[in-house]
Amino acid sequence: MNLKVFDICREGTHVLGPGNRYVVWVQGCLQRCRGCITPESRTLDGGITINTADLAADIILADNIDGITISGGEPFLQSEALANMLDEVRKTRPELTVIIYTGYQLEILNSLPKGKELIKCADVIIDGPYIENLNDNRGIRGSSNQRINSVTTRLDSFISQMEHGRRKQSRVMREDGMVTAIGVPSRHISKKK
Ligand code: SF4
Repeated sequence: MNLKVFDICREGTHVLGPGNRYVVWVQGCLQRCRGCITPESRTLDGGITINTADLAADIILADNIDGITISGGEPFLQSEALANMLDEVRKTRPELTVIIYTGYQLEILNSLPKGKELIKCADVIIDGPYIENLNDNRGIRGSSNQRINSVTTRLDSFISQMEHGRRKQSRVMREDGMVTAIGVPSRHISKKK
């Protein structure tokens, strides 16, 4: 099975959830949030195609990671492929926690094709569209309308930090020598006089 991917970070990052996390940004999103940090990831025909078994094998071999974060783009447009990949990883690396971002509200994910299957693969789902005016520069959700939803209890001790903790960004040196900035961007908030 194939997955359309915008980018992956196999080096891992500490700024998109607890511990060092392998990150997959999927390609394709139907929403048009103002101020979207990755507008290039929205087109449905862009990105690169990766075989889910190959991606799972790469994650399984990454011995420096504590978890996986899936962002986008919209992960729930490719639920079947992602669930397939995460199921494969879980067989060998069940200790890896999974955080999934989605621009949809949690309540409708069940009704999306194979949405239930992907929900079952997650420990935490961060839901809702990005609303620029509600970006309060806190936590790893982009704006305060987005909820940090526990699917399992495995990341419960980090929920408050994910919601309200100090927001961080990191720069990661990629295998090709390029440096990429990773993390939820902050918004300049002007102080009222
Ligand atoms: S849901 Fe995410 S990727 Fe899609 S437009 Fe909104 S911020 Fe961008």
